[in-house]
Amino acid sequence: MKRELDALLALTAQDARLRALHEKLERLQAQLRQLEGTLAAEQRALDEERRKLEELKRLGRERSAEVDDLDAQLRKYQRQLDEGLLSFKEMEALREKIASGRRRMERLEEEAIELLERAEQQEATLKTQEASFAQWKARLEGEIAELRREIEHQQRVLEQERAKRDRLLKEVEPGLLERYRRLSADYDDPVVPVRDGRCTGCTLQLSEITLERVREGREVTTCESCGRILYAA
Ligand SMILES: [Zn+2]
Repeated sequence: MKRELDALLALTAQDARLRALHEKLERLQAQLRQLEGTLAAEQRALDEERRKLEELKRLGRERSAEVDDLDAQLRKYQRQLDEGLLSFKEMEALREKIASGRRRMERLEEEAIELLERAEQQEATLKTQEASFAQWKARLEGEIAELRREIEHQQRVLEQERAKRDRLLKEVEPGLLERYRRLSADYDDPVVPVRDGRCTGCTLQLSEITLERVREGREVTTCESCGRILYAA
């Protein structure tokens, strides 16, 4: 019995090691997802700023083109006036068109200048942001690469430890293994030591008979309350 219990204890210890490794791997993977998410979000925010700026520039250029078109139109009107081949009424209408066209052109010019000035300011701000982002990104990518290496390493360790568990599994008597499996579904610690006459899993004060059986170690003994497998500390 002693040998069987030892094999089970070795398996128990290995399972605890595997659980800890698993948790560590999950923590690292969560950390990786978080870093990648942060990086992607910052990149999207910056791309959006860049897009807005390009839109502003486009509007500015559009206004400038409108000014140029209008200017050409007004020059054409002016030439028609200068040629003097029109009737008085036609000339009056044309003068009115030129006057209102000039007012419109002034407004458009102001708009174009304002848009282009805003674009210029935002371009400068964005350039600074992009520069500091590039630095931050490089640092973060370094951290991400480091984390990926660490995860790969931990995955290899986990595989080795799993292989070790498979070997330990073969050492445990099948009936005992089955009992261990059932208990493992309920408890992280299905095999516990007895201390001061108590089951260290549920803290029950064990009966004299149970304690005696644990001390003798001739058969597998379980806690009367929680059913955990007991061994002498
Ligand atoms: Zn118990």
